[in-house]
Order: sequence, then structure tokens, then C-alpha cells
Amino acid sequence: MDVDVDVDVDVDGDVDGDVDGDGDAGVAVGWAEAELTALAQKGLRRQLEPLESAQGPVVRVGGRTLVNFSSNDYLGLAAAPDLAAAAAAALSAGGTGAGASRLLVGDTLEHRRLEEELAAFEGTEAAVLFNSGYAANVGVLSALLGPEDVVFSDALNHASIVDGCRLSRARIVIYPHSDADALGQLLTAHTGRRRLVVTDSVFSMDGDLAPLTRIAALCREHGAALMVDEAHATGVLGPGGAGLVEQLGLQEQVELRMGTLGKALGAYGAYIACARPLAELLVNRARSLVFSTALPPAVCAAASAAVKRVRADGALRERLWRHIHRFASGLSALGFPAEPRSAVFPVVVGAPEAALEASAFLRERGLLVKAIRPPTVPQGTSRLRFSLSASHTEAHVDAALRALEEWSRGRRA
Ligand SMILES: *Cc1c(COP(=O)(O)O)cnc(C)c1O
Repeated sequence: MDVDVDVDVDVDGDVDGDVDGDGDAGVAVGWAEAELTALAQKGLRRQLEPLESAQGPVVRVGGRTLVNFSSNDYLGLAAAPDLAAAAAAALSAGGTGAGASRLLVGDTLEHRRLEEELAAFEGTEAAVLFNSGYAANVGVLSALLGPEDVVFSDALNHASIVDGCRLSRARIVIYPHSDADALGQLLTAHTGRRRLVVTDSVFSMDGDLAPLTRIAALCREHGAALMVDEAHATGVLGPGGAGLVEQLGLQEQVELRMGTLGKALGAYGAYIACARPLAELLVNRARSLVFSTALPPAVCAAASAAVKRVRADGALRERLWRHIHRFASGLSALGFPAEPRSAVFPVVVGAPEAALEASAFLRERGLLVKAIRPPTVPQGTSRLRFSLSASHTEAHVDAALRALEEWSRGRRA
């Protein structure tokens, strides 16, 4: 059984060229105009909207001050003074740019120090930095897998995993979301030179958790490797803040853990925590690492400060979890399905236009909650995505609940 669930939406590209027919638009400009029109007709056109303040629980956007429920800054570290001070010191000492790929002269002591701290944080032999989570997923999957191999990927995995699977040229077997029984059957059915299962730990747009204990047992039973993307779990889950793998005690069974530095850790970049031979292979083979300029040393310094903070002090995580419990019980009381599993709470609305309307309604009441539409989520499941941060106050959380109550009353009326 090949379960072919692809959440990517292809915009119909059959209207090409000079749309208004006046012959003076560029060729590529014509393509762009046609696609943008099609996106707008489906309610799927997106626009950038710059912040006019620092990242934080309250931000300025479009001249308005709004409580921010759309960032992944789960611990409120993105604008923390100690991270900025660490980056500033590294900037003064080392300048702005790494100047080259790490394999040339872009490798610095800041990179080394951060990798050592990350390996200690994760309890692995090694950690390898990547320039982003996207680059990590694409680089790792294409480094480890080739045309003779099979990759088993959850239907709701992040786009960077989808792209990494495609780039690897391995056979892609997509299993229904979090369905360990189906995964077991697929592992029985599909053989290959190498087999690897890859999943988000916290799903980015739903906030639910992968059944990792069962998946790890299946991998062991079938001799497959397991890679877990902890983008929304790093700094949020686990007794030491290392993620869901740590929380479930599966460190020995998950050979490749991707963690991000740009979400809860408030900096930028990502890493793979793994055994030393895997780390060395990635340095040799991961093209997004080999053929890309290294992270600026100042970014590494900020991330090091964040890792130290998370390891030394659980207070931010505790505060985040108090908000998670408060919001989950408030949502349940309002009749929205919600559980305290992670800092991400979807309110599924359905059509993209409806999600945009709901987002505008909340914005009128002082809340920034962006609408999430295809291809980020499957068709028909456009939603509001609330993400909580330790930097919120209880009053912020309660304001969100009040506005949602008003919105749902308006919807029923
Ligand atoms: C954000 C995200 C990534 C990409 O990480 P970046 O550092 O932002 O490139 C990868 N996987 C998941 C699940 C994510 O949510």
C-alpha cells in the first residue's frame, strides 16, 4: 500500500505569458502575474508584513500594537539582552561574516564551542551545525539516502523534510499521519538498501506529538534508522529542554535528531545531534553544509548563550508550560478541542478566506494570529495557529481566550 498524501498544492500554471496581452511585460513577469492572480482567486495569496518593533509578546505591525501569537519564540529569547550581548561581543571580536563555507575558512571557535554545547545538551557524541532547519533536513536526507533506498515519511511532515526526501531520490513512502500500524505494514512491504523513517516530533501546524515510542520500536524491529525533527520541541519539551526524544527517553534509538536555534533558542540556524561517524559523514556529504557559507560567528555566540540559559534554568520552560495549561483548559471550556501537548494550538476554520476573516477579527481586538493556509496545511483545514511564549503574561493568554469566545459566539449567531 502506497499511501500517497501530498499536502503540496500545485497552482494551475496553464495561464502563461503576457496576461494583459499588450506585449510589453517580461516573459517571467507574465508567469508571475498569472500565478499571483490564480493565488488571489483561491484566497491563497500571501503578503509580507514587517514588524516595526523587536520580536516579542507585544509587537507593532502596520502602525498597531498587537499581542503576538504567531512567533515560534517559545521562550522569549529572540530579543533577550543576554543573547544580544553575547552576539555583540562576538561581532566586535569577529566581525559580521564567516567569509566562507566551514570546509574552507568559515569554521571558527564559536562554531566549535556551540557544537560541543549542543552535543552535551542532547547527550550525543557530536552535533553538526547547519544554516537553518530547512538546510539541515535537505542536507541530511540527501546525504544519507540515494535511489536504492526507501524513506518513510509522515503525511504531515514539514516541507523541508518533503523537499529533502525528493532531493535524495530515494523511494518515498508516505504513511498516514502518526499511524504507527500503517507504518509497520509499510515497513514490511517496502525493502531497500537503506531504510529510514523521518518524522516531526511536534507537528508544526497542529501541535500534536508523533508516537515516537512505537515508531522507535518499529524501526528497531525492521532494522530501519530513525530521524526526528524537533524544531518545535527543542527548548520546550523534555526534562532538560532537549525535546520529545529526551522526554520519552529514546536517545539511544533516535540516531539523528534535528534541533533548531531559530525558534525557542531565539537565534538562528539548526543542528543535527548524532554519533561521531554520522557527524563526519554529514561534514563530507551534506551539500547544504559543504556548499554554503557558514553561520556568522555572532549568531553562534547568541545560540551558545541560549543553550546555556536553557540548560541552567528551567524557569522559562515552566512559565511557558503554565501558559500552555491555562490556554488548553480555556480553549476546552469554550468547546475547542485542545490538549496541553506543546506550545502550538490550531483552531481549524476550513476555507482560506474564513481563516483570513477570523484573523482580521482577532486583529481588531488587538491580537496578531496569522491565518495558515495551503500549502502549509492540507486543503480544507485553513486555520488560526496560536503559539504561546514564556514571554506572554497570563493577561495575554486570557485576552486571546476572550477574543476567541467572542469570535465563536459571532459564528454561531
Ligand atoms: C521551522 C521548521 C523547520 C525549518 O527550520 P528553520 O531553521 O526555520 O529553517 C524544519 N522543520 C520543522 C518541523 C519546522 O517547523
